[in-house]
Amino acid sequence: MSEKPLPLDGNSAAGLLSELFAVEITGASITCDGCHHAAPIGAARLYGGRMGAVFRCAHCENVVVRLVRTPEGYWLEMKGARSLFVQARGD
Ligand SMILES: [Zn+2]
Repeated sequence: MSEKPLPLDGNSAAGLLSELFAVEITGASITCDGCHHAAPIGAARLYGGRMGAVFRCAHCENVVVRLVRTPEGYWLEMKGARSLFVQARGD
């Protein structure tokens, strides 16, 4: 008899998430959902101002990331990106 595994809550991934979000992110490779081109975030075209930033794919101009800072915190939207790859740091 096989039982469906019970899911854990997101707090269970706190260690893994802190590994990911504690890195220099401009070197991470983002893959555009529009053209599937992969490039470092630092190579994207940046538009924005004081409150936030819009990152566009340098290959097709698709919006891959929107980042907004509000008085309460940060909003990150990545629906224009297919994936984000962050190289693991050596131990
Ligand atoms: Zn693209």
